[in-house]
Amino acid sequence: MSVLVVAEHVRGELRPVTLELVSAARDLGGPVAVAVVAGDPSALVEAVDVEGVDEILTVAVEPDAFETDVVQAAVEALIAEREPDAVLLGFTVDSMGYGPALAAKLGLGFASDVFALRREDGGVVAERSFYGAKVNAEVEFPGHERVVLLVRPTSWAPSAGGGGATVTEVAAPAVQSRARHRDWVEVEAGDVDITTADFLLSVGRGIGDKENLEQFEELAERMGATLSSSRPLVDAGWMPNARQVGQSGKTVKPKVYLALGISGAVQHLAGMKTSGTIVAVNSDPEAAIFNVAHYGAVADLFDVAEELEKLF
Ligand SMILES: Cc1cc2nc3c(=O)[nH]c(=O)nc-3n(C[C@H](O)[C@H](O)[C@H](O)COP(=O)(O)OP(=O)(O)OC[C@H]3O[C@@H](n4cnc5c(N)ncnc54)[C@H](O)[C@@H]3O)c2cc1C
Repeated sequence: MSVLVVAEHVRGELRPVTLELVSAARDLGGPVAVAVVAGDPSALVEAVDVEGVDEILTVAVEPDAFETDVVQAAVEALIAEREPDAVLLGFTVDSMGYGPALAAKLGLGFASDVFALRREDGGVVAERSFYGAKVNAEVEFPGHERVVLLVRPTSWAPSAGGGGATVTEVAAPAVQSRARHRDWVEVEAGDVDITTADFLLSVGRGIGDKENLEQFEELAERMGATLSSSRPLVDAGWMPNARQVGQSGKTVKPKVYLALGISGAVQHLAGMKTSGTIVAVNSDPEAAIFNVAHYGAVADLFDVAEELEKLF
């Protein structure tokens, strides 16, 4: 019984999901190994040497940038050598590129978008949602001793502290990738990356009209917040796609998430429920957003906005 976590990195930096995967692995129990497949894996060893990690497996590959076949071959070799019963990857663009193919090729159990995990009778039970997140289901893997799971970012708190894991160098298998990393394209100029904001002021359909948006743009600026929104405002063309929070938008985890006139549909919560402090304003006391809010006000959002404008 052991778990293999595959570290994600971009441009020499560890992606936060990696340390969340370590926490998920700890929920499963058993020794946890983290694989670092990179141009210079030793540069990332310190970053992944956190509580709960027993061993770090470094695989030096060419090139450093993610290429599907290279990473898949390395993980395949590690599975053959270490025989973990669970392999955890992020539910991210990179891992989606090879995780399902890996599971299909090796005949392993597979689930994506997993947000909870446990062991039961020796097997792994994963929770994920279906039907546009309207139904949550528990997935078992009968007949599979080994599973590959793509874990939803921000579902676990990142593991931290600790240190002292054993570091083992593993030779990279020879493979010619069919994919080529060409270049990096920065986030479109003229808009922001809401996933890195510390403070999001997020507006929902409760603001009523497009004309009211300006008031909240100004309020966000005065408060030092970044404006984001629920999906209906994006669908209506009031807000750009890049500002949408939720299952089909961005997953965010700011220090403060201030939700004005957002009901708290599961698809919205999927993108923000692990934010540091969630403050919700809604005129409906039964609104689901209050189930995840640390602070809530049953109030008219325009009254609250007026008070905030006096303060900032
Ligand atoms: C496959 C799929 C993917 C989806 N992906 C996403 C996604 O990524 N992100 C997302 O947000 N949604 C997503 N949705 C849509 C989601 O189901 C909801 O429809 C949406 O989140 C609702 O947005 P809302 O809360 O702004 O609007 P509503 O649900 O209409 O809520 C508006 C809220 O404002 C409150 N309100 C109204 N007036 C006031 C006032 N004056 N003062 C205070 N409160 C007021 C109301 O009480 C209400 O709770 C998805 C749906 C599907 C099927």
